[in-house]
Amino acid sequence: MITVKQFAFNPFQVNTYVLSDETKECIIIDPGMQGKLEEDELTDYIDANGLKPVLLLNTHAHIDHIVGNHFVAEKYNLQLNTHKDCVGFLTNAAAYADSFGLKIGTVKTIDNFIGEEEVIKFGNSTIQVLYTPGHADGSLCFYSEKDDFVITGDVLFNQSIGRTDLPTGNYDLLQQSIWEKLFTLPDRTTAWPGHGPETNIGFEKLHNPFVAIGKE
Ligand SMILES: [Zn+2]
Ligand SMILES: [Zn+2]
Repeated sequence: MITVKQFAFNPFQVNTYVLSDETKECIIIDPGMQGKLEEDELTDYIDANGLKPVLLLNTHAHIDHIVGNHFVAEKYNLQLNTHKDCVGFLTNAAAYADSFGLKIGTVKTIDNFIGEEEVIKFGNSTIQVLYTPGHADGSLCFYSEKDDFVITGDVLFNQSIGRTDLPTGNYDLLQQSIWEKLFTLPDRTTAWPGHGPETNIGFEKLHNPFVAIGKE
């Protein structure tokens, strides 16, 4: 069974996730730590629970979700896995960091491109990759059918959706991703978003004002 640990880091309060199972292997998703205090918070959790990080994933490459990539990749010798359409955001990460008031040194490049229907494996666990563009090109969600949860990045939030006014944002495409990829999951599926508290798919289908309005 997968344990989901959520942290909120940096001025944008990005949710960083550590997913671990009974083998103690874990994966790190969207490390947003900015500075030593936040880095220590993450590594203290990993140490205290005796976890072994084996993989680094990004839901997408907006600067607030990737500022801690280099730190965890170096510390734990991790490969970065994300969608190929994230490359442009990473190439321009230093400029994005400046404009959003964040600090980034070395930008970790992508080691392995992943996409739709890919299966991520760690410990005894598997995570399915969903391709969900619309908020930003290259956006991925990570779904565990067995443990009934999905990491939704900035695609779907508790009673909100990702903004579409940044480069490569597309409102219609975001609606399509949510309806075709997320709202087809079982209602009981817990959704862990890139910002804010968790929710579930059934609740969002009924109560998310942004998505209901866009329903065809
Ligand atoms: Zn974003
Ligand atoms: Zn975000």
